[in-house]
This record gives sequence, structure tokens and C-alpha cells, in this order.
Amino acid sequence: MEISRRAFIQGTLIGGAGLSVFGFDVTPVLAQARTLKISRTTETRSTCPYCSVSCGVIIHTLGDKAKNAVPQVVHVEGDPDHPINRGTLCPKGASLEQDIVNPRRLLKPQVRRPGSDRWDDIPWDQALDEISRWVKKTRDATFLEKDARGRTVNRCEGIAFTGGCTDTNEFNYLVVKTMRSLGVCYLENQARV
Ligand code: SF4
Repeated sequence: MEISRRAFIQGTLIGGAGLSVFGFDVTPVLAQARTLKISRTTETRSTCPYCSVSCGVIIHTLGDKAKNAVPQVVHVEGDPDHPINRGTLCPKGASLEQDIVNPRRLLKPQVRRPGSDRWDDIPWDQALDEISRWVKKTRDATFLEKDARGRTVNRCEGIAFTGGCTDTNEFNYLVVKTMRSLGVCYLENQARV
């Protein structure tokens, strides 16, 4: 059977019932493919982490939450019930799946030592110990009780804090309390969730 390029493209683009390629009716196959992608997934509602619009998303994950099952994110879409975006996502938000399923995603704390040209993985316990030690050392070295005119200020000018855009208001509340108690006044965050 001879088939022209034009006829082949027309044949493969026609959707719906009765689609036939080389004599095979592929309609059931296409219908099956359309339903399979999220038919067995768990839905998790979340917030796009990219900008302050804070669109709602639904993350579809394969895996039945059994202990030995490794969950796999297979699709991310806008949440139609979310009052901010009502199901829509901009191109950046629509690419969220690639942010989650990405071999370059960082899963461990990393540190770049003075003079080093690379970042090294370190365990969480070590990271927390080192952060605590450096916060204490820096605060002790830079805490200012009085300013140049003798006024009491009690501030730590050697530490700054910046938060992520998916931090909740509750988390940010605790951050502000903790940082203010250290005397930190350079605080930035994106309180929106
Ligand atoms: S989907 Fe786009 S507009 Fe919405 S929060 Fe994400 S980056 Fe911002």
C-alpha cells in the first residue's frame, strides 16, 4: 500500500472515533493512553514556589504509600479549586514537574570551605552543628549594644536571614521571633502562603 506524506500526517492527526493508521484502529490505544497518566496517582495540593503570585498546584504521585514503594511524581497541574489561579499556571509553574524530578536537585546540605573551589555534601547533624557554632561565633563578634551616639540598640549586624517563598506564615512567625531574639535586624521573606 502506498501512502503519501500528506495522507499519513492527516491520518495521524485526526482524532476521535474510527482513527486508523495502516489499517489498525488505534482509538482504544489512544483512549487508554489518555486515561493512564493520572488514573492511579495520589493528589497532593501545594503552592508553586517560584513567585509571589502563589498559584495553587496539584502534584500527582505514583505509588500506593507502601513502605517499600518509591513515590514518583508524574504530573503537576494548576489547582482548579484554588482562588488565586483557578487551575491556570504560567509557563514557569507549568514546568514544575521538571523541578521536582531532576537529577541536579539538591537533597543534602552542602558546604564550600574557605579557599575551596567546590561544594561538598555533609550530613544533616554536622550541618546543624556547624551552623549553630558559626551563629554563636558571629553573634559574639558582631553584637552591638549601643550605637555611635550611645543609644541602646542591642543588635547583631553580622547575620542576615532570607526565607523561601513556600515558607508558611507560621514558619515565618517563628523565624522572626528567633532572629529578633538574636538581635538580627536584616530579615527578608516572602510571607504569602
Ligand atoms: S505559576 Fe507562575 S505566576 Fe503562578 S506562582 Fe508560579 S511562577 Fe508565579
